[in-house]
Amino acid sequence: MKKTLKDLNFKNKKVLVRVDFNVPMNNQTIEDDTRIKGSLKTINYLIQHDAKIILFSHLGRVKKLNDKLKYSLFPIFKRLQELIKTNIYFSPYTRGQQLEHKINQLKNKEILLVENTRFEDLVEKRESKNNKELAKYWASLGDLFVNDAFGTAHRSHASNAGIATYIKDSCIGFLVEKELRNLDKCLTNYQKPYVILIGGAKVSDKITILDNLLKKCDYVLIGGGMAFTFLKALNYNVGNSLLEQDKVVLAKQYLTQYPKKIILPLDCAASKEFKNTEPKYIDIKNIQDEMGLDIGSKTINLFKKYLENAKTILWNGPMGVCEFSNYEKGTLEICKILAKLKNAYRVVGGGDSAAATIKLGFQNQFDHISTGGGASLEFLSGKPLIGLLPIKEKI
Ligand code: ADP
Ligand code: MG
Repeated sequence: MKKTLKDLNFKNKKVLVRVDFNVPMNNQTIEDDTRIKGSLKTINYLIQHDAKIILFSHLGRVKKLNDKLKYSLFPIFKRLQELIKTNIYFSPYTRGQQLEHKINQLKNKEILLVENTRFEDLVEKRESKNNKELAKYWASLGDLFVNDAFGTAHRSHASNAGIATYIKDSCIGFLVEKELRNLDKCLTNYQKPYVILIGGAKVSDKITILDNLLKKCDYVLIGGGMAFTFLKALNYNVGNSLLEQDKVVLAKQYLTQYPKKIILPLDCAASKEFKNTEPKYIDIKNIQDEMGLDIGSKTINLFKKYLENAKTILWNGPMGVCEFSNYEKGTLEICKILAKLKNAYRVVGGGDSAAATIKLGFQNQFDHISTGGGASLEFLSGKPLIGLLPIKEKI
């Protein structure tokens, strides 16, 4: 178990905090500040406990000089000033005397936001490749380190794993703690019956999750584009639906090993082309040259029966191409079903799945919607989150 905020004494300390301010931006305007707000609990705790707070985050990918303009954290600094009532300063430098001076000037309860850590990627990807010198340098700027950036927990960067390696003491923040606690209820501390609802585009993206969770769960309900590779493995004609030919053998293996656990669609909303056309509802066995872009009502009812008996439900991957309004129905209906199942522990993991449930208005209807797409998948695959590994363990 990793140390948490409650395990450290922050009074008068320079506390380096890795947050996730990687928000969607449009022309230096923040499109959605959910992630900024998500970090406030940890920041406010540190303010209350008399720390000097130094915030680090990445934003976007910085490959050329021009990206520095596009991905400056300055607009986020402005937003922070509106959200937090304390003195907040900004350092346009990610290293050097001026940054050090600003840190040394900080008083208790004050905040310094350091410019985008990925500005260091312009030179040999120092941040993203966890350059030792950079990590040591950043670690030397503070006394303690808090990692509250779940979105990058599956990456080993200088600003997360790096700083944690070289600093005296460290812990995870409230956001990371909550993610780990909730996702663990689908990984080790799950209640049975345990039903996994999986969709999205590709089998290849979900192999590690299936490998890890098929043995633990009672049922896997498969929708989305990936269902067609499984249907193909059962010799159905899938027409022009999304198909990963090179994964059919693997799908066959899963179906042979777990014949009763894997539940596949009975029908689909089909289209002649990959567009927001008027859907045609057909049974899977009747597919000719169409492509299945969503699950149909028979499938929704079938999935509902399994979901209603579950004590734990993990959902990853939309049931259809929910970017098209005519093909979001399957995902929407599943949201409605899950919203009513208050006796089950319901977790949504995965970037597109989380975005879809929020877009459809269900952000407060489940027990947990993970904020970290890739990180949640990695965790549920049973892999260690390498960005968190060097954080100190509770004694
Ligand atoms: P997550 O990010 O939650 O893990 P994925 O990235 O695996 O989810 O899947 C999301 C994508 O899957 C969406 O872009 C969606 O359009 C696509 N998708 C879902 N169903 C289908 C389908 N039947 N055919 C093609 N693409 C699909
Ligand atoms: Mg995705």
